[in-house]
Amino acid sequence: MNVEFKIALAGNPNSGKTTLFNALTGSRQHVGNYPGVTVEKKEGVYRLDKTKIDIVDLPGTYSLTAYSEEEVVARDFLVFEKPRIIVNIIDAANLERNLYLTTQFFELGIPVVIALNMIDAARDRGIEINDERLSEYLGVPVVPIIARTGYGTKRLMEETVRLAAKQEEWKSKPISYGEDIDSTLLDLKEKILHTHFLTESYPPRWVALKYLENDQQIIEKGRKENPDISAELEQRVEVVSRHLHETMATYPEAMVADHRYGYIKGILQKGIISHKYDKDRLYTSDRIDKVLTNRFLGPLIMCLVLFGLYTFTFNYSELPVSLLEGLFDQLSRIANQTLPEGYLKSLIISGMIDGVGGVLGFVPLIMFMFFGIAILEDSGYLARVAFMLDRIFRIFGLNGSSVMAYILSGGIAGGCAVPGVMATRTLRSPKERMATLLTAPFMNCGAKLPVIALFIGVFFRDHKAQYMFFFTILSWFVALTLAKLLRSTVLSGESTPFVLELPPYRFPTLKGLVIHTWEKTWQYIKKAGTVILGISILIWAMMTYPGLPAAEKEKFDLQRQKVEAAYPLQTSVEDTTNTISIEKAAEKNRQLAVINGAESKTALRYSLAGRVGTALEHISSFAGFDWRTNIALIGGVAAKEVILSTLGTAYSLGSEGQEKDSSLAETLAADPNWNPVKAMSVLLFISYYAPCFVTVICISREAGSWKWGAFSIVFNTVFAFFLAVLVYQLGSLVY
Ligand code: GDP
Ligand code: MG
Repeated sequence: MNVEFKIALAGNPNSGKTTLFNALTGSRQHVGNYPGVTVEKKEGVYRLDKTKIDIVDLPGTYSLTAYSEEEVVARDFLVFEKPRIIVNIIDAANLERNLYLTTQFFELGIPVVIALNMIDAARDRGIEINDERLSEYLGVPVVPIIARTGYGTKRLMEETVRLAAKQEEWKSKPISYGEDIDSTLLDLKEKILHTHFLTESYPPRWVALKYLENDQQIIEKGRKENPDISAELEQRVEVVSRHLHETMATYPEAMVADHRYGYIKGILQKGIISHKYDKDRLYTSDRIDKVLTNRFLGPLIMCLVLFGLYTFTFNYSELPVSLLEGLFDQLSRIANQTLPEGYLKSLIISGMIDGVGGVLGFVPLIMFMFFGIAILEDSGYLARVAFMLDRIFRIFGLNGSSVMAYILSGGIAGGCAVPGVMATRTLRSPKERMATLLTAPFMNCGAKLPVIALFIGVFFRDHKAQYMFFFTILSWFVALTLAKLLRSTVLSGESTPFVLELPPYRFPTLKGLVIHTWEKTWQYIKKAGTVILGISILIWAMMTYPGLPAAEKEKFDLQRQKVEAAYPLQTSVEDTTNTISIEKAAEKNRQLAVINGAESKTALRYSLAGRVGTALEHISSFAGFDWRTNIALIGGVAAKEVILSTLGTAYSLGSEGQEKDSSLAETLAADPNWNPVKAMSVLLFISYYAPCFVTVICISREAGSWKWGAFSIVFNTVFAFFLAVLVYQLGSLVY
């Protein structure tokens, strides 16, 4: 007979969930989102003889409280989808911490099979676990595995199938939380059972426990279901809470957590863990940490590591980036030769190939960066970076868990705010999370970087490195200061206690690195490819339509005819019959180019984008921006890369048809309208104004409302503009 059932794979972050999931499901998996939220949902299938097991990979969490979206998603899934079994994956080297989550599955009453993972790594550290005894005391199957090699996974699934066949009812295994809480729990449970309060979805004792833990999600649901009963329960909790505070200076939540750890400690003392090595011998990880997180050496090494990553990314991606750019150039050239003149050709070349190509050209750089970061992440080093910056972040109303978001967004220069904003999902406090995701876009992402590099190269060429360093530090300072501002106004609230997890150092595996890198890179390609293509076409249209009116066009035609008349015979430079003719042909081409350039420039100014840019000069001139800059800055909202290409197009259209790339820098340097003060003002504006379109979408999605996306556009732009005006006005006095 064919059997089919569903299991959930759950465990702490870094316990090897992804590795096990991939080992079990191979290619039979797909990724989506949990309904209504942005937390990723992975599903796959495992077959054992005639049994088909659907595996859902729950988000990695340390507990099942309602502190973070992941935790809520995980427990909602368990409660509402009722998987037959939880396969709880546990890092054998960190039993105590990992079992904390297990106790919460017990509370929920769902049948558990424990996958005791990384027994190889534990063994290396001299740790042996008596899995049979552990299974005996916990009362659930425990199967030692090495997810990385697949060792034990078959037995794990066999145990799972065996347990599933028992068709057990959910029955919470009560843990004692001390007399006060236990007796309250009993009272509450009675009340809940009697009134069928929330019992349709949740076990009664569990609801009681959540009320004691002051779990906002459940309390809100309770209030909705029956405000009177909810109030009664809250009242009862209030009493025990006050009592605990008076007698023990603690709260029910803390008491519950203490007893969960106590329960675990109690079990672990039954000779379950044995250390092969000396007790006071330091584990390798701890010894490495002595150096890497040393008060003085630590930050120094951190700077070196980050600088190394930065160098690695930029140096090694240079060649593939230029190859890819060459490819797109080639594509442009072919299109140029094969397509007939007209709007379609212009659309395909300027709108599509150049627009999307400019962004896709960054793929190798993005990939290298993610690869480097994956090494730091998988090895456990990034956790140390967060650890070291924690103290500084606290001053600004955030904590160490925000550090990753900043780094990913370009805190080291050359990241992307999209993964940065998404990385805030791991933050527990919603307000700290909001403050982080709203300020992460102030970092110097990979798209702003070439723009910054260009301006520094032209106007501050004698101190390039210093200016780059200055802009990097400044962006951290600005982001943290504004985060502080947000945290003391619209996002005010207590800071959450942040327990820093320092996972042991590990050698990353190539497979793990490749998967992590590719997942992120593919997201970038998908996002960039679809959205940027649309925007790029839109901008092209705005810079093209409406075309010059016939009367204007005629003037240029007349000028061209005059040139043709003056040089009747010389058709082209290739006409090499004599030297005079070569010189004359060159002269003719030069004159024609001047006319064509002037025509394009007039057309650009006449186009929709040109008119908007010109109209904006009324305001933007306070910060020193002219109409061309305005167009580029508007384009930059679509994607910051667009600033460079739009500026390039806008300027080269008016020039004498030289090569575009080299001429933008030269044009800016030679243009009397530009000077270092204006450049600084533009640069500051670019660094801090509205995030790009994709980021805004991402912010809205992560924050759960379009209002926050709109907020970030307005807030950032206003701030950036005031900063630019200030610098320009003051600078102009001095300069
Ligand atoms: P997740 O965060 O729970 O998804 O964890 P991952 O699957 O990404 O694994 C975290 C790290 O542990 C990766 O570097 C894995 O290669 C490593 N890892 C996973 N399983 C094992 C194992 O059985 N033994 C060892 N030594 N390392 C493992
Ligand atoms: Mg993972």
